[in-house]
Amino acid sequence: MFIECFIFTICILSPEYEAHLRVAAARRVKQCQSENSFSCFCLCCGSCRGCSIDLCVRRKAVSMSGAVVVGLGIAGGVRIRDMLAPLAGSPAEKLQVRGFVSRRSVGTHQGVSQISMEEAVSREDIQAAFICTENVSHEDNIRAFLQAGKHVCVEYPMTMSYKTAVELWDLAQDKGVVLHEEHIELLTGDFKALKKEVEGKSLQEGSLHFTGGPLKPGFGFPSFSGISRLTWLVELFGELVVTAAALEDAVSNYSKMTAKLLTRDNRPLTWIEERGPGLPRGKKINFQFATCSLTQIPPSAGGTGGLFMQDMIHFSCKILGQVGVEDLQREKIRILHCLELAEKIQNICQK
Ligand code: NAD
Repeated sequence: MFIECFIFTICILSPEYEAHLRVAAARRVKQCQSENSFSCFCLCCGSCRGCSIDLCVRRKAVSMSGAVVVGLGIAGGVRIRDMLAPLAGSPAEKLQVRGFVSRRSVGTHQGVSQISMEEAVSREDIQAAFICTENVSHEDNIRAFLQAGKHVCVEYPMTMSYKTAVELWDLAQDKGVVLHEEHIELLTGDFKALKKEVEGKSLQEGSLHFTGGPLKPGFGFPSFSGISRLTWLVELFGELVVTAAALEDAVSNYSKMTAKLLTRDNRPLTWIEERGPGLPRGKKINFQFATCSLTQIPPSAGGTGGLFMQDMIHFSCKILGQVGVEDLQREKIRILHCLELAEKIQNICQK
């Protein structure tokens, strides 16, 4: 511990960062004394670009290994499966599942033991948590693990409000841990093919219409539960503005949300999220460009490995300090922008 704190002190000698890192150092060294793990993320900027501190981030990563899965549904089961059989040679091998938390009494699942939430938060051999519960309980679970100084990977959407997401991100930065929101929809072959097709084209107007079966309770307002569709639109066409929104619902589990959006160039986009019994799961697109129109998602070459596994590798890379500051920042801006749009859509619909 003494040696680690000494190395940390050397790290802060980088001239550009000296002033603000001194504050961070005082707080972090204090944390060194109270924790077995060692971390010296810059608490001011959330990263250590330009100084040798990212060396220390890697030191922490080497010792990081234990993870817990909270919520044993479809996503939670896949997380456990992937940690038990990580892609060989990938950073996901650094994660070892130590247990799962469930509201039901399950005992063991895939050979992994159930543990209590209190144990998951307090155990020193658990450094990371996967939050795979229904959307409405993400916020409380994220907060509990961040406050305990643990890295968090949460299935989308992170929260049911923009303000809370900002607050949780600040908390993660303050604790010097990773807060990662899974977005497997961006890793699909369909999205990659679509992105390639759209690149360089000038959008005139467009629509994305999603249909699917009714959602179980606890998944929130359609603009949040369907945030992966909104994320597609933002990744394809840049930041958007909400101009109108409406929700038809309340009959036999049926709901249809229509949101009118504008791109930075004032081009209109319509996002429809329609769910009801018997509705097939699918997406219809209609993008009119200056030179052509696109009404079908182009054929893709297929994915490269499991989507959740790819996401787990991305999360592990973040913990290992292998993701660049610009990439982290770009991702954070996009996630917060989508949550803000989702909240605006909800507010307009509920007025
Ligand atoms: P699910 O209904 O299958 O699973 C949710 C599970 O969480 C249930 O088993 C429930 O009992 C458990 N749970 C809820 N609150 C809990 C708590 N406080 N403590 C412990 N367990 C709790 O749902 P799912 O499809 O696995 O989705 C989970 C999350 O993953 C959602 O946020 C969803 O948006 C996201 N997601 C799912 C998929 C997918 O393909 N299933 C894809 C991307 C994102």
